[in-house]
Amino acid sequence: MPPQRSSRGTPSAGRLPGRAAGLVVVLLLLGLSVWSVASLQPPDPAPADAPAADFSATRAFAHVEQIASETHVAGSAANDRVIERLVGELTDLGLEPRVQNSVGARAYGSGEARMARVRNVVAVLPGTDPTGRLFLTAHHDSVETGPGAADDAAGVAALLETVRALTTAEPLRNDVVVVLTDAEEDCLCGADAFVELHPLAVAGGVVLNLESRGTRGPPIMFETSRGNAGLTEAFATAAPHPVASSFAVEVYRVLPNSTDFTVLVDDGGFTGLNTAFIDGAAGYHTPQDVPGRLDRGTLQALGDNTLGMARELGNRDLGPLAQPGAADATYFPVLGELVRYSDGLVRPLAAAGVVAVGLLVVVVRRRGLSSLPTTAGGAALAVVPLVLAPLAAMGLWELLALIRPGYTP
Ligand SMILES: [Zn+2]
Repeated sequence: MPPQRSSRGTPSAGRLPGRAAGLVVVLLLLGLSVWSVASLQPPDPAPADAPAADFSATRAFAHVEQIASETHVAGSAANDRVIERLVGELTDLGLEPRVQNSVGARAYGSGEARMARVRNVVAVLPGTDPTGRLFLTAHHDSVETGPGAADDAAGVAALLETVRALTTAEPLRNDVVVVLTDAEEDCLCGADAFVELHPLAVAGGVVLNLESRGTRGPPIMFETSRGNAGLTEAFATAAPHPVASSFAVEVYRVLPNSTDFTVLVDDGGFTGLNTAFIDGAAGYHTPQDVPGRLDRGTLQALGDNTLGMARELGNRDLGPLAQPGAADATYFPVLGELVRYSDGLVRPLAAAGVVAVGLLVVVVRRRGLSSLPTTAGGAALAVVPLVLAPLAAMGLWELLALIRPGYTP
C-alpha cells in the first residue's frame, strides 16, 4: 500500500522525523547561542602570586583600591595625591616618569570652549631598536560624582600592572610610552595638552586606550583609527580575549561620543585601538563606581589583552601600523576567536547569502515542503523583532517614567 500523503503533500510517515529534526536544529541553535555568549565572558582573575611575567588582576586591583579610594576630579587635592602615587609606582618599576603640567582646551559645539589645567603622567620604557612608539593611555581623573573605580582607575591600574610585567622580561624593540591623562571627564583636556604640547607626541605612533562605560563584562575593542586591517590583525593574533566587532566601529564613527582616543587620533594623527567594558552601566559616573563593584575578571581580560598587544606591537615594525592603512577589516567574535576578513569580501559574501537563501526557497517549494506565501511569511517574521524591540524599549521607558517620574528630564 502506498504511503498516505497528508493534505500538504508530505508523506505522513515523514512528519515525526521532520519535527524531531526541527527540534534538534532549534536546540542546536540555542546551544550555540549560549556557547557564544559564554565564550565572551571574562576569565577568572589571576592570583597575587601569579608568575611575574603574567598579568594579575589581583595585583592590579590593589592599584584600583588606592586610586579610587575617593573621588578625584581634575585639579583637586585628591587627584594630586593620585598623581603622586602614580609617579611613585612608575619610579618603583624603574621608569623615570615626568608630570606634564600644562593647559588643555577643547572647542565644543555652539561656540563653547572648555579649558583645564592638567597634569599628565608620562613615562617611557625605552626600546632596544625602535621602529616607532607604542602609547598606552588611560585617564587618571574621575568624575565629580564618584570615585571612578572602573572609569578609569581600572584602565590606569591595568597599565601599571602591564608595565610591571613588561619590565620582568627582555626589553621590547619599540619604545613604550605610558600616558596617564588628566581632565578626560571635563574636556579631554589632558589628551589635548599631550597632543598639542608634549614633545613625545610630535611623531605620533600607535595608541592603545583603555576606557570604561560600566563596571563589568568583556572589554570590547570598539573603536579603531581608519584603515584598521593591520591593527585588527595584530589584535586577533595577540589578544587572548578578542572581543571586537567592526559593526561597533562603524556605529561609533557616526556617534558624537568621544574619549581621549578621539583627540589622539583626530588631532594628533595617531593610529590605534580603543577598548572599554560596558556591562553594569548603572554604576557608570555615579557614587557606585567603587572598587567593590569592579569585576576582577573584567580587569584580568583587560590586562591580558593589553599585555599581549604591548608585547606584539612592541616587537613589530610600527612604521606601517603608525599610518592609517589602506583598508578596514570586517571582524566579529565567534566562540572565543575573532573571525576577520577584508572589507572587499563583504558584498560578495552578502550576495552569496542571498543566492543561497533563494536556492533554498526553490528546493523547499519543489519538494512541496512549503508554499511560496508560507516561506515569504516566514522570512517577513524575521523583521518583526527588529520593529518590536525598539517599540518595546520605548514603551518600557514610558512605564519607567510613570513609576519613577524623577527619571524624566
Ligand atoms: Zn573614562
